[in-house]
Amino acid sequence: MQIRTKIAIQFTIIIASILIIFSLAIYYTSENFRKQEFYKRLNDRAIQTAKLLKTLKITEKDKKKLRDANKTILTKLNAEKVLMFNEKDELVYASYEADSILFNPEFLTKVRKRKNVETSDWENQVIGTMYEDEEGKSYVVIASASDTYGKEKLQNILNTLIISFVIGISLTVFLGIIFAGQSLKPIAEINKEITNITAYNLKQKLNTGNNKDEIAHLALNFNQMLERLERSFELQKSFVSNASHELRTPLAAIKSEIQIALENNRSTDEYKVILRSLLTDNQRLIQLTNGLLQLAKSENKDNSLILKSTRVDELLFKAQEEVLSQNNNYKIMIDFDDIPDDDGWVSTNGNEALLLTVFTNLLENACKYSPKHEAEAKIRFNEKHCIVAVKDNGIGIPQSELSKIFEPFYRTQNASTYRGYGIGLSVCRRIIDMHQGKIEVTSEEGKGSTFEVTLPHL
Ligand code: ADP
Repeated sequence: MQIRTKIAIQFTIIIASILIIFSLAIYYTSENFRKQEFYKRLNDRAIQTAKLLKTLKITEKDKKKLRDANKTILTKLNAEKVLMFNEKDELVYASYEADSILFNPEFLTKVRKRKNVETSDWENQVIGTMYEDEEGKSYVVIASASDTYGKEKLQNILNTLIISFVIGISLTVFLGIIFAGQSLKPIAEINKEITNITAYNLKQKLNTGNNKDEIAHLALNFNQMLERLERSFELQKSFVSNASHELRTPLAAIKSEIQIALENNRSTDEYKVILRSLLTDNQRLIQLTNGLLQLAKSENKDNSLILKSTRVDELLFKAQEEVLSQNNNYKIMIDFDDIPDDDGWVSTNGNEALLLTVFTNLLENACKYSPKHEAEAKIRFNEKHCIVAVKDNGIGIPQSELSKIFEPFYRTQNASTYRGYGIGLSVCRRIIDMHQGKIEVTSEEGKGSTFEVTLPHL
């Protein structure tokens, strides 16, 4: 079911319920009021008749006159009957003539007991009341009649209520559909605009309308999501072109070196020089493809990441060993800020091979980008985390480039003379993200940098 129809139905149900409640309240109050008013009129009529009968000391013969007077002087009520009984329950007056007048003696007893009794059946309302004459004799007067006028009025009210209800509901359905359509129009428009957005026109944005209501917020959020998508598409594109560029450079170098080597006959020593240069280019290629492979692995969310309790300090020592084995002129110091009481505080639930890649990269960078090739790593911990800080006194990173160094292939201006491809740190960040940790950097150009890896400990 469309939201528009749903809203219209809900709107109608609410209004219908309110209308029904109000109509019932109006109807029952009117009915109650009518009944009470008519009982009062019957009571007056009973007392008036009794007064006339007693104060005028009407004899048996004059009762007919009273009956006529009742009919002419007083406003006649529909199907009106007045009966008057003395203390012995003998009928002393009846406002109508009949062969036999039937009455319920129990009703008389009830009236004597309660002084005033009101009752009604489908057609008539009956009232029984006590009257005391000047001599102190008490009488039961019973008056009954049908409130045709009142009932007609009530029927009128009921008809008006029913007509108002039908008109009200029809209007509500009509207005509900229009109102819901109006409110949902911006969503329909957004839908239309979204259909036109594809991977090739992510620059296109949705209209954010008044910039204030919920729908404007939805469009705003959607636009922000499009911007993020656009950025990641661009990153992807630049990654592919950067990667192919980086691979092409050493391949082109290898090709021209081979071509030059083949142009003339050369001595063994000359061939050796060429082969060494080819080997260096080949190593660069291997390094680059390894880096790309690592990046691809870390990007792949499905890779079955085997996590187990891993000691961070041990990994750091392993990384130190690895870096030093390949660069014997590098110096790496590892130190604890505090000795942990509990091994769990320096252990994390992690993937050994991936975390080793992170620490190797950081230690290698620290040494590589320092003229003295020295790095210092410190381990500390708090209630929740184990933190590894890798510090160097090297070339540092310009402030404006700090946020970019974790992007794939990004290399700072001042690092252009150092070998590298700008892949390592993006791999590190991805791996640390996978471990629910964070990697941060503080640096001052010309003075050095500190990379901090924070991992949740056991
Ligand atoms: P690579 O070192 O291979 O270029 P990385 O991804 O490891 O790639 O580093 C990205 C860039 O960040 C480096 O090119 C360099 O500009 C900068 N960088 C990383 N570590 C340091 C450091 N310790 N000191 C100064 N600059 C650094």
